[in-house]
Amino acid sequence: MTRFNTQLVHGLPVGDNATGAVNPPIYNSSTYTFGSVREMPRWDYARSGNPTREFLERQIAQLEHGTRGFAFASGLAAIHAVLSVFSPGDRIVVGDNIYGGTYSLFNEYFAERGIEFDTVDTSDFEALEQAVSGRGPHGVRRAPARAVYFEVLTNPLLKVNDAARISAVAHRYGALSIVDNTFVTPYLQQPLDLGVDVVIHSATKYLAGHSEVTAGLVVVRDDVLAQAVYFAQNRFGGVLAPAECNDVRRGIQTLALRLERQQENAQAIAEYLAASPLVVAVHYPGVSADRDRLLADNGLRGFGGVLSFEVADGVDPEVLLDSLHVFRLAVSLGAVESLAELPSRMTHFELPREERLKVGITDGLIRLAVGIEDKADLIDDLAHAFALASGAHADADSAADSAEVAAVA
Ligand SMILES: *Cc1c(COP(=O)(O)O)cnc(C)c1O
Repeated sequence: MTRFNTQLVHGLPVGDNATGAVNPPIYNSSTYTFGSVREMPRWDYARSGNPTREFLERQIAQLEHGTRGFAFASGLAAIHAVLSVFSPGDRIVVGDNIYGGTYSLFNEYFAERGIEFDTVDTSDFEALEQAVSGRGPHGVRRAPARAVYFEVLTNPLLKVNDAARISAVAHRYGALSIVDNTFVTPYLQQPLDLGVDVVIHSATKYLAGHSEVTAGLVVVRDDVLAQAVYFAQNRFGGVLAPAECNDVRRGIQTLALRLERQQENAQAIAEYLAASPLVVAVHYPGVSADRDRLLADNGLRGFGGVLSFEVADGVDPEVLLDSLHVFRLAVSLGAVESLAELPSRMTHFELPREERLKVGITDGLIRLAVGIEDKADLIDDLAHAFALASGAHADADSAADSAEVAAVA
């Protein structure tokens, strides 16, 4: 068996065409001929299955060390499909810092249809165990939860969750362990090896990697779960179109190269920010004193390319963001270009302010999703924006500087 980086490039044999093409073909066909009325063909209709989609699904299953993969039209379509395996009355324990769209899907859709959600800090194992077991702090007893749903690297504060320990707690009470590992990717961790039952990705981010497509992926090992997810994929029909399956397939081939550079850049930027007197907090585990322990204890090979930070009094975070030129002011993450945003007004604006503050997303917190550019340009861009945002040199020089940077960007 080949190693991970080789698997990224050609883990699966193309072996399907007479041309010798090194890439699998894109099958733009919604329907397929039957050999005869009584002969059910392998492919009949594209919602149920398509060879290009199957290639991507087998590719991600291989990389995640699962048995079945499923491709959806978006990360949220994937999450919807996974949650549909539960029934009214089921209780799901959810990490207290999950993607905003997921939070809304759970609380504004599934909760109204009878699924119960309990929010818990998944790094507090006592609280987690209480929530999963159904033994409340006041002696209240409920049925054990059916699942624990969490993210390993949280957004945007980059807290680290221990997939192995969380899964062990879930399994002790017969619950499934479900992880959205969009921020981690199989390059940094294969959660199924750590006991997780379902891995979900918004492939829109690192896996596709070029801000061109929205896509979602699910990987499982268990056949019964696979059948349930397949049912949801085929019956809700939120499938990924063939051309987009190919975009994600191609993106995955360069995942390692991109993520290596993104992490190298993120580390350099986090170190720059940590040393700046204009910054009061940097949220990136790579600059924590616990760095090595965090990697070892959580079964991670890196911390990815997203980080966040808080500026000192006297620095206007909005001016800072509006003054960036190499970083683009945009939500999303994981692509080749660097993006910057203000979570309180952009990615997390839907969260009630009190909820936001409770998990540490202050009004001035800035998130960076670092790309693959030259790190010196990214740091120069930040330095320049800091100068403007702190009023340090609001003179003609800076106007000239920004014109120059804009020309590059
Ligand atoms: C973006 C994102 C999603 C949603 O994915 P879409 O592809 O936008 O539907 C879910 N979870 C995480 C962690 C994300 O970053």
